[in-house]
Amino acid sequence: MKVRFWGTRGSIAKPGPRTMRYGGNTSCIEVRSRAGTLVVVDCGTGAHDLGKMLMETEALPLHGHMLISHTHWDHIQGWPFFAPLFVPGNEWDIYAPRSVGQSVREMLAGQMQYTYFPVLLDQLGAAIRYHELVEGVLTVGDINIRTRYLNHPALTLGYRFDVDGATLVYACDHEPYSRQLALGAGVPNAQEQGHVDFLSDADLVIHDAQYFAAEYEAKIGWGHSTAEYAVEIGRIANVKAIALTHHDPTRDDDAIDALIERIRATLKEKENAPEVFAAAEGLVLELGRDKPSTPVPAGDQFSALTETVPQLSEHLVLLGVADTAQAKFLADIVHAEGIEVKRQVDEASIMQAARLERPTLIVLEHNPPTIDGLRICRHLRDSGDHHLEQVPIAIVAAQEDTAAGAAAGLTTWLVTPFSSIYARTRLRAGLFRDAIGVFGARTGSADESKSR
Ligand SMILES: [Zn+2]
Ligand SMILES: [Zn+2]
Repeated sequence: MKVRFWGTRGSIAKPGPRTMRYGGNTSCIEVRSRAGTLVVVDCGTGAHDLGKMLMETEALPLHGHMLISHTHWDHIQGWPFFAPLFVPGNEWDIYAPRSVGQSVREMLAGQMQYTYFPVLLDQLGAAIRYHELVEGVLTVGDINIRTRYLNHPALTLGYRFDVDGATLVYACDHEPYSRQLALGAGVPNAQEQGHVDFLSDADLVIHDAQYFAAEYEAKIGWGHSTAEYAVEIGRIANVKAIALTHHDPTRDDDAIDALIERIRATLKEKENAPEVFAAAEGLVLELGRDKPSTPVPAGDQFSALTETVPQLSEHLVLLGVADTAQAKFLADIVHAEGIEVKRQVDEASIMQAARLERPTLIVLEHNPPTIDGLRICRHLRDSGDHHLEQVPIAIVAAQEDTAAGAAAGLTTWLVTPFSSIYARTRLRAGLFRDAIGVFGARTGSADESKSR
């Protein structure tokens, strides 16, 4: 498998003499299998040069695939400038996360409205097919791909590619679930373990590393990783090499060199250290092994291309939150998704509502003795009710206690303060994932014990 970086910058393009070596264009990567399957991953401004190269060197008509992680500007601004889309006879399959209330096509058409751009989406010459993705697996040409929701204030998918005996993971944009790990040390909680599994044993991980640990305090909730986190999580996941990318627009070439040097120094005393480097525009890597690549684990074969995920409006969120302001803040977020909310403020009523109402998500406060979220969580898991053993449970708290949460069977901590947009995205990812679990169980294709 061949990988080429066409855009490595985060947030906004940053051309100029100070970003010559690592590049000023925003996210875009070209992946090719030996058999010739062409995949473009993200369509930031780097896609302009990629499109130009394809037009000059490829035999037309051209069939390509494009995987978009999410529709923030720095990942789609190259779209209306990607020349192969304008050529009649070319075929493009476009994949992006399924959203709420808007199709992938509508999201891409948005930036091509007449006010912003002189050519409308309908005027593109190529045959374009749009595919909406959730968490699961899909096949593109001869490449097996697995998707996973990342932690970002927009519904964002990471992609894991298996082909030619090699594994590549693209995880951008993503914020650590755990604040200890964001600083470069700590034990993965259940959410982080999911990320570790997604990265596990990869030959190369291309990972968001917009910040470094000392900057993180001021960037909490912005949806990005620290370099320290990316490297530590990759080390835990037994990854061979990590390309740090989504470079902050304020970070010039010399600062990136200094960052890489510092990160490599911290790895010297550690076991199982991966090779670490900064993604650079123009860099080409060849991945391949003699032995077969890691297959997608059995029992997790839910198609990422499903069209039958239940509507979010069929869901119900149970809030066990006594604090009135906090409850209103959370209820507003859930209502904004068109989802119904039930609120209870004492343990007995929460337990009873959970049994009777069958919520698809339970959000609890942990503030004993008013509400002991961890104890309620434990009781729900031990209730003998199959639904309550499985339902995602989140605890809202000022601090995370990873060990206690794991012991109680908690799905996730929502550490305050968080923005409403952040919570909204976590909620969407959680509910989509739950809907998939429910649907998968119904068709018998998902593993019931699958952790969420
Ligand atoms: Zn981005
Ligand atoms: Zn983003």
